[in-house]
Amino acid sequence: MTAVEKLVRWIAKKKDHLRIQWVDKVYLKGRMLMDYSPTAASSWSWRKICEWHRSVWNRFNLSKHNFNQWLIQHGRLLTLDRLGNFGSTQQTLCFLCGEKNETHQHLFHECLYAEKCYLSYING
Ligand SMILES: [Zn+2]
Repeated sequence: MTAVEKLVRWIAKKKDHLRIQWVDKVYLKGRMLMDYSPTAASSWSWRKICEWHRSVWNRFNLSKHNFNQWLIQHGRLLTLDRLGNFGSTQQTLCFLCGEKNETHQHLFHECLYAEKCYLSYING
């Protein structure tokens, strides 16, 4: 469990902790995290926590998308390197670029073809 995930879980459960009580009093003001949108005046870290929470637990997402998002954020997606470690495949080169092994790091941070696809999706 990442530090952000742990903090979000505490906030969502309104854990009896001084920092969580401060967040509830200053930001949430009794609302649920799901119903809250950070303002421009909110701190960078608080906006990132809210973005993370919305990306994973957005109520309009399909549950399989939530699950995949969770797998991605925990580095547990079945990339070819992991499948190779299980003995399921010997092909570990990235299907998109064919230049390096398909690892989580490569797929989401290094693969130029994946980056082009992502930018194309973002820019419409
Ligand atoms: Zn690649």
